[in-house]
Amino acid sequence: MSTRDRTAPASSTVAVVGGGFSGLLTAIHLLQADPDLIVRLVERAPQFGRGRAYRTENPDHLLNVRVANMSAFPDRPDHFAAWLRARGDCAGPSAFVSRNRYGDYLQSLLREHVRDPDNAGRLLLEHDEAVDIEWTDGRQVVKLALGRSFEADATVLAVGSPPPSPPHGADDGVVASANYFAEPWTLDLASVPQGDVLVVGSGLTMIDAALSLAGEGRRLTALSRHGLLPRSHGPTTPSDPPEGSTATPLQALRTLRAQARKVGWREAVDGIRPRTAAIWMSWPVDERRRFLRHAQTWWDVHRHRMAPAVTARVSELIAVGQLEIFGSRLERIRTAGDGFEATFRRSADGHWITRRFTAVINCMGMRGSPSAEGNDLVARLARRGVVRADPLGLGLEVSDALQVVGATGAPTAGLFAVGPLTRGAFWETVATPDLRIHTARLARTIFESLRTVEAA
Ligand SMILES: Cc1cc2nc3c(=O)[nH]c(=O)nc-3n(C[C@H](O)[C@H](O)[C@H](O)COP(=O)(O)OP(=O)(O)OC[C@H]3O[C@@H](n4cnc5c(N)ncnc54)[C@H](O)[C@@H]3O)c2cc1C
Repeated sequence: MSTRDRTAPASSTVAVVGGGFSGLLTAIHLLQADPDLIVRLVERAPQFGRGRAYRTENPDHLLNVRVANMSAFPDRPDHFAAWLRARGDCAGPSAFVSRNRYGDYLQSLLREHVRDPDNAGRLLLEHDEAVDIEWTDGRQVVKLALGRSFEADATVLAVGSPPPSPPHGADDGVVASANYFAEPWTLDLASVPQGDVLVVGSGLTMIDAALSLAGEGRRLTALSRHGLLPRSHGPTTPSDPPEGSTATPLQALRTLRAQARKVGWREAVDGIRPRTAAIWMSWPVDERRRFLRHAQTWWDVHRHRMAPAVTARVSELIAVGQLEIFGSRLERIRTAGDGFEATFRRSADGHWITRRFTAVINCMGMRGSPSAEGNDLVARLARRGVVRADPLGLGLEVSDALQVVGATGAPTAGLFAVGPLTRGAFWETVATPDLRIHTARLARTIFESLRTVEAA
């Protein structure tokens, strides 16, 4: 962070925009790093702490990471398990509990830190949407949708990733229709009509939709290029990272496959996990692009797995014909009568299929959406050149220290990002085991940078 020509006030203020896992944990680490710091946590959704992933009330929506790996704190690996035990929940370390339960955990962390006398007046919850940030006199002014604004010495964008862009071939009528659902995470089940429902995507978000919607008079057709479902979790034994070259995605894949033959695929993938960020960072942009084009789907289905109970339920839905998966290229979706007509080409045999649907749900996840779209604040900052997309369009360009890079290529003073938006830099920035490390590191960086300013 560049030093500014001013004297810092006795208590610096850090604005954290986004109160999901990343924002909440950054706020907590900041409060712990500096006993004088004031943190303003801004969240536009009804509840702080839950973000997109942990607001679901469906008990079938399980974490896709075991209890043992979901502690919010990197230096206290037993923290989540202990929280569950203290509430009489006997889920063991290898269990997969509901995402709603994990949201309860994050909310209880928030309550604990709000009530802590050491934090009195230092953790301010702003229930509003941040719509703009301006730089005046070396400080930032964070503007909120309801018209208020406040000053900050640094701001963290912890806004999650934007919703996916509309599916390829969807005409304007589809996107404008009340029966097109662009944000699967806030799906109001009652508003999805019965009948044949088209789900675009076949990853974990599609699985969520299937668990919520299949049955009840609805049959789901899920489409994705490869038609691959996430693999299932299963018993694993820890394995060392594989030996062999990872200098290019192709070499990394060969190394991983050789290791999988020796120790099993789950062990091989889990074994390389601690090194994936370093491997990603060692690849030049063209190699990263090659990985996204040729290997991402394969990696994702092995890396982001379903809890065994979810796998069993999905197999059941497929067996009774309530869920059908197509490996297909979607050619066109248009409105037809009360519903939609989709034309797609089956990857296996090139066969063209046209079907009618009552609703379309976009479950394409984070792919295919440029970073600046889907979030008004980020879009506004991008237009002003304060932030810019990373070269692969996965999120925002950030430095190794998570400082946001502007249109000129220089870091933007006092502006940081954490969470899925920083995927272009680190790749592994979507799940708790990585985010808990990034949030702790970011808090230390901000603390150090504010201290430098004070000393200047
Ligand atoms: C469906 C789903 C299931 C997942 N399951 C798991 C799992 O089992 N285990 C795991 O480790 N990870 C899981 N993940 C990954 C998960 O996204 C991360 O673990 C983590 O929750 C990301 O948190 P975040 O705070 O970065 O982003 P988000 O959770 O997206 O939170 C961002 C927050 O910012 C708010 N916001 C955005 N813009 C503004 C603004 N301008 N002003 C105010 N507020 C704003 C949003 O309302 C939102 O609450 C899952 C993700 C999804 C989508």
